[in-house]
Amino acid sequence: MAGELDDLAPLRDIIAEYGLAAKKQLGQNFLLDLNLTSRIARTAGDLSDTTVIEVGPGPGGLTRAILAAGAKKLIAVERDARCIDALSAYLTPAYPEQFEIIDGDALDQDFEALAPQPRRVMSNLPYNIATPLLIGWLKIVAKDPAAFTGFTLMFQKEVADRIAAKPRTKAYGRLSIMSQWLCEVRPEFNIDKRAFTPPPKIMSTVVTLTPRPQPLAPATWDAMETVAQAAFGQRRKMLRQSLKALGINPADAGLQETARAEELSVEDFAKLARLLDGR
Ligand code: SAM
Repeated sequence: MAGELDDLAPLRDIIAEYGLAAKKQLGQNFLLDLNLTSRIARTAGDLSDTTVIEVGPGPGGLTRAILAAGAKKLIAVERDARCIDALSAYLTPAYPEQFEIIDGDALDQDFEALAPQPRRVMSNLPYNIATPLLIGWLKIVAKDPAAFTGFTLMFQKEVADRIAAKPRTKAYGRLSIMSQWLCEVRPEFNIDKRAFTPPPKIMSTVVTLTPRPQPLAPATWDAMETVAQAAFGQRRKMLRQSLKALGINPADAGLQETARAEELSVEDFAKLARLLDGR
């Protein structure tokens, strides 16, 4: 069965049969190349004890690859009724024990209640809600690092670059700080826009985020967010200036008052966060 993952109908046939023309407002760019979907699934390693939560299965390309890779269970959350009907009709009968589909908005889900541990999120994310979803998951990790074993996520390359960015680069910002404070971030590989139907405007990148057993440095979520937002909200200004409104002076955290946000490490931001929290 070269190039095949399962005995199911090709995805193009599924799309035609169930009328799944992509809808822009749902961020639908479908990945139909089974070699690519299985490559993404394989980056997550052994899933035999894991419940995978997939946001936005669409016609089911990545979903099938995750199931074929041997995930213990896959719970998919989708808000497009056409896709839910299609998956219920063709995928549920093929994997009656492993596959479950939830009709809902991923932004409204309680991800901890959805699946038992060990749980992992895997998704070709709808680009219009990718960042708020990631922030929501990181917030859970800040409370409980064991809540997820990891995340295998596809983002627009520009967003992936921001997640993985190092200090003193243009892409370094709030998303880099919050992600790297709580997780090890590994960009896996890029996927050319031509691999998608329809092709998006820019390249995509698969990223693995693995929660650290404990954050890189102690701080509260709210204080980290507040200082990162204030500092990068005025990224060209010196910290003395950009943090003034918060009533803190970077010197009191042992940092240069004249430094700019992008020169600070994640640990430096944690120092500012602790200063803000009065600790
Ligand atoms: N996983 C499929 C693939 O790789 O071909 C589809 C990926 S497509 C980029 C994003 C999917 O997320 C679509 O199926 C879309 O309907 C779904 N989606 C968009 N917004 C959503 C939301 N708020 N909650 C759940 N699913 C959503």
